[in-house]
Amino acid sequence: MGNRSETLEFQAEARQLLQLMVHSIYSNKDVFLRELVSNASDALDKLRLESMVDKDLDADVSDLHVDIEVDRDARTLTVRDNGIGMSREDVVSLIGTIAKSGTAELLRKLRESKDAGASQELIGQFGVGFYATFMVADRVTLLTRRAGQSGGTRWESTGEGTYVVEAVDEAPQGTSVTVHLKPEDAEDNLHDYTSDRKIREIVKRYSDFIAWPIRMTVQRP
Ligand code: ADP
Ligand code: MG
Repeated sequence: MGNRSETLEFQAEARQLLQLMVHSIYSNKDVFLRELVSNASDALDKLRLESMVDKDLDADVSDLHVDIEVDRDARTLTVRDNGIGMSREDVVSLIGTIAKSGTAELLRKLRESKDAGASQELIGQFGVGFYATFMVADRVTLLTRRAGQSGGTRWESTGEGTYVVEAVDEAPQGTSVTVHLKPEDAEDNLHDYTSDRKIREIVKRYSDFIAWPIRMTVQRP
């Protein structure tokens, strides 16, 4: 396998934040989808910009959009974009560490906050980005290919301290994030993220302003 597949540790601060997400007591888990759609939208913005600046960029910009796909049987939800994507180095540095300056402050405030309601409000305010997926997922898989590059990268984690990255020969341009939904939410109507209605409602509530088309594929029973 050589350096194709490796297991790496999340940076200390990232680990702390992940702990809070994995053992989440916050009821508003819905924000995970807002974070994924926002990242997808940013990735499409970045590709559009880069393709204007770099005329030689070998990228497809013909149908930029976000896709949300639900697989009820597998209990997965995938948010896909055909935007800028990430190289392996990007994945390790952007997803494995916390680059955001506000995050240390958020962590401190979360530790100080007395009740779940206050914590929930803080997370809602700050947003915890990609890691919010671990409120609803026991495993997250990301597949990505940087626009203009040939090989792709697969990333996977249970949010428990380490993640695996590996090179893949083929991957569509852009990024797809698949959340493997926690079994304990399956019986819970409030957190049924395989429900077409639920997803539409969250997208409408949090992502209505997104400029790119958001398409939905729901597997029918
Ligand atoms: P933020 O979006 O506030 O920077 P996130 O935790 O949501 O924080 O994401 C961290 C970084 O990971 C992003 O800044 C971006 O560089 C990268 N990233 C996340 N999702 C995607 C995506 N769909 N496409 C490209 N890059 C992404
Ligand atoms: Mg984000």
